[in-house]
Amino acid sequence: MGIRLIVLGSGSAGNATLIEGGGARVLLDAGFSSRELTARLQAVGAEPHRLDAVLVTHEHADHVRGASLFSRTWRVPVYCTAKTLRAASLDRQGIHRHEPLEAGTPFTLGDLAITPFAVPHDAVDTVGFTFETDGSRLGYATDLGHPAEAVRECLRHCDLLMLESNHDVDMVRDGPYPEVVKERVLGRHGHLDNEAAAGLACETAGHRTRGVVLLHLSRTNNRPDVALEAWRRRFARDGRRAPELHAAAQERPSAWFDA
Ligand SMILES: [Zn+2]
Ligand SMILES: [Zn+2]
Repeated sequence: MGIRLIVLGSGSAGNATLIEGGGARVLLDAGFSSRELTARLQAVGAEPHRLDAVLVTHEHADHVRGASLFSRTWRVPVYCTAKTLRAASLDRQGIHRHEPLEAGTPFTLGDLAITPFAVPHDAVDTVGFTFETDGSRLGYATDLGHPAEAVRECLRHCDLLMLESNHDVDMVRDGPYPEVVKERVLGRHGHLDNEAAAGLACETAGHRTRGVVLLHLSRTNNRPDVALEAWRRRFARDGRRAPELHAAAQERPSAWFDA
């Protein structure tokens, strides 16, 4: 048994993914209300009280909105860095229990090895994760401004990648956002565009990378067909066959994926 996962929803209105492997079940980010998280978990056949952890990548609301109430309601510990705990006010709102984590320091839940790593984003201490068990390896990175070398290193040799593919650069430039927001999105600590995300995957995807799930697609500045086309073009330019590509949606859970 390797790792399997289902994206409960992804985008600027909320992010959450259920990951199972090595006898552990974790909710990765809790960016919907506790009620919505519960409903989406139950809709995919998961029981919230049987989760071992809620992992939080950073303090932005679309990743942490339901974490406090969900943790208390279902008595699930929250794993995040000490800085993120404070920045998200989770210490004041109250959670069932806090388990501190640190970029670069691996830990295990059951037989699932989890390694947080730092990613460049405009939050206090943003992390991505890799998950490994029984020869399967999954990499997760969303909300990053640019594909830093350290991030590339962490994402190598994954069977499955989950990567932000936030926007099409031209759609942002020509779109309705105020200039200051455009600068933030396009900046080195904002969000990863389709081209950069595909380039990152192209450089890190080895022969064992079977699939990529595209995350955090902007509703205003991206479309699934635009993103997928950019990815296929990027791989074709390198003379490579793209892995299986899927774009996660905001409104509904994805299919199950195996890593
Ligand atoms: Zn986000
Ligand atoms: Zn963010």
